[in-house]
Amino acid sequence: MTAEIIAVGSELLTPQRVDTNSLFLTDQLNGLGVEVVTKSVIGDDLNRLADAVRRAVSRSEIVILCGGLGPTEDDLTRDAVAAALDRKLIYHPEITEVLEQRFAQLKRKMVEVNKRQAFLIEGAEMLPNERGTAPGQWIAESDAHVMLLPGPPHEMKAMFTRHCLPRLARIVPRQVIRTLVLRVAGMPESDLDQLIAPVYKKYDNPATTILAAAGDIQIHLRARCSTEGEAAALLVEVGWPIELLLGERIYSRNGQPLEEVVGEMLRERHSTLSVAESCTGGLLGERITSVAGSSAYFLGGFITYASRMKVEWLGVPEDIIARCGAVSKETAEAMAMGARRRTGSTYALAITGVAGPDAGGEKAPVGTVYVGLADATGCSVLHRQFIGDRTRIRQFATQMALDMLRRRIAL
Ligand code: AMP
Ligand code: MG
Repeated sequence: MTAEIIAVGSELLTPQRVDTNSLFLTDQLNGLGVEVVTKSVIGDDLNRLADAVRRAVSRSEIVILCGGLGPTEDDLTRDAVAAALDRKLIYHPEITEVLEQRFAQLKRKMVEVNKRQAFLIEGAEMLPNERGTAPGQWIAESDAHVMLLPGPPHEMKAMFTRHCLPRLARIVPRQVIRTLVLRVAGMPESDLDQLIAPVYKKYDNPATTILAAAGDIQIHLRARCSTEGEAAALLVEVGWPIELLLGERIYSRNGQPLEEVVGEMLRERHSTLSVAESCTGGLLGERITSVAGSSAYFLGGFITYASRMKVEWLGVPEDIIARCGAVSKETAEAMAMGARRRTGSTYALAITGVAGPDAGGEKAPVGTVYVGLADATGCSVLHRQFIGDRTRIRQFATQMALDMLRRRIAL
């Protein structure tokens, strides 16, 4: 069974508001094993909305509209759905009574326009709104189930959970959706795709999506099956060859971000970590400490932006900076060694680079990053040349540093 969501409201077409209701609904529908195949956002326009509803019911078995059920002139969902399904709108005095009682409880007098909310589409079941005034509606068409839900998220969620989920559970054939999330560091998206596409291209189910961020790629395999066992088997069948191809480049198999994975590794080994940051200005420390409980392994760090601070705080020899530059293999090494010496940590990571947009007097080009990693055996340094704006280069740098540590600890 497939579902389609239509979010109604002109405000959702402005830069100020986003349709968040459909995210909640998608999660709920996936939980029932129903895939959402189309989402649309339609402004408060009767004809466009009626067109969208006609199209949706012709191709999807579940159609959920949210928004546009209020009492005002721009609330057109009832009229549009009635027009699209060629059904009448019927006035229900008993709904008006309930609305009047609701207003009386709030010590307000109900104004006439609220009666618009007492119209149900011919053949529709009313869905009570425990959190607001606009009732929802459930309509069974020959090939589709259509739901009209209110726009305010807390009203929509309560109504969907209480009144739609139980109905859907009776209709939807038993199906499960299970997702395997593999996260990979240190590999360009195109290289990764070239490597694994021959495996996943052979399958429509599971559906594969690849989401790439700076230095961080997520591979999502979504299996739709009639039982939990089948879904698990299918994910192994497709996921395992992909895991073999990517090897140790995979850092998590359950969606965990890199800072959590590295944190767990440090904790298990009773190891500690310190950092020395230049171009990332604390971003690495921020990522490490965003993990609850990171005090078990993170000692602290140095934001040594100016060369003088690298010398004074970390003991980087002045002549190294003068000879090799602040962005260099030698400086990264001296920063990492210095941080480890000053904190006594098991591992120390150091980042120095050129985040741009200008090289700022450095000889190294924009996007150059050196990461130093010091431990009891000495210090190693990696060099990368990244492409992107300042934000992306800084993200790349922290990802590179955390991944370097992960690989070292895993050795
Ligand atoms: P309405 O039911 O159209 O009167 O919507 C009332 C309010 O609910 C709007 O002003 C929005 O703030 C909110 N809303 C409507 N649709 C959505 C949606 N799809 N996602 C998030 N908020 C929404
Ligand atoms: Mg609206």
